[in-house]
Amino acid sequence: MRWGDILCELTTIGKEAMLHAASCKGQMKSKQMTNDKTNSMRNYQELVKRVDLLCDTIGERLKGHLACRKGCDACCLHLSLFAVEAAAVAEAIKSLPASKRLTLRQRAKNAVHDGPCPLLEDHVCLIYQARPMICRTHGLPILSRNDGDAEVDFCPENCRELTALSGDMIIDLDRLNTALATINGLYLRESGAEDQDGRQFVSDIILHVTE
Ligand code: SF4
Repeated sequence: MRWGDILCELTTIGKEAMLHAASCKGQMKSKQMTNDKTNSMRNYQELVKRVDLLCDTIGERLKGHLACRKGCDACCLHLSLFAVEAAAVAEAIKSLPASKRLTLRQRAKNAVHDGPCPLLEDHVCLIYQARPMICRTHGLPILSRNDGDAEVDFCPENCRELTALSGDMIIDLDRLNTALATINGLYLRESGAEDQDGRQFVSDIILHVTE
């Protein structure tokens, strides 16, 4: 599946979610709030599925050129997340055993913003299945734009023998962020948390859910 196809489908998800949000406007009683949160999270999970599919397709195209493997944590730096992702990560942390949550809390207290991600333990992500969107793209070629200059970045261990990459092997970071920001906006609106529109560091999420 190509990124364009995924974006078309994302637009549909966004439209459906907006229609739903509009129909709920002004009638947010507590039971409806719970349903709305579920709908927003469903949008997010749908995006996760499609990004996983895209990454699998790119991984297949780059087979033999990727050094990514379990135990390699070079990409795992401390992140800040949108509220909708923070909510998904918080749920995953809550389901960890109590002893893990305790050591995780300690690590979060010592975490620094440009250091290793506190969710990393013995070189493995503690919430791998629920890891944030950007973590799903780790190691793969990513297109970003800085003041109009486009740049493709990927792990230096990967694609060493390749001299060129075709467009369908590259993830457009701006498009991914736009889709995520749209879903986050709906999440904030539907959950009535519009005042929490900043990003949250993983360490703050951990400290909040392990209180
Ligand atoms: S959330 Fe998991 S995959 Fe993402 S940076 Fe942290 S440890 Fe790595």
